[in-house]
Amino acid sequence: MDRNMSRVLMLALVTGLALGCGAQTAEQPAEEPVVEAVEVVEDVVEFVEVVAEGSAFDPPVAVAQIPEGVFYCPMETVHFASLEGGTCPTCGMDLVEKAITVEEEAAASEDPPA
Ligand SMILES: [Zn+2]
Repeated sequence: MDRNMSRVLMLALVTGLALGCGAQTAEQPAEEPVVEAVEVVEDVVEFVEVVAEGSAFDPPVAVAQIPEGVFYCPMETVHFASLEGGTCPTCGMDLVEKAITVEEEAAASEDPPA
């Protein structure tokens, strides 16, 4: 009697363990929510280097890529920029100075005081 009891107990225990294991495996979500980190990098502008004597760009660059305070040829895209005003050696247009944008000033004022 005792023998049988312990046998049944063992069987129940093993079965329970096996079931528990199986249940645990089944509980694991087959498909985890995939959070796609979509980083939109649109504020990062790679500035071009403008030398004092003037830099020609081929292919032309966007005005946004011209550092502030630099004179550039006011075409749709910039194919020439210089640290000094004058005319574009490529097309003869008067160079315009790129003003410091409001955005830049706002970013600067955001800096915590040291
Ligand atoms: Zn030009």
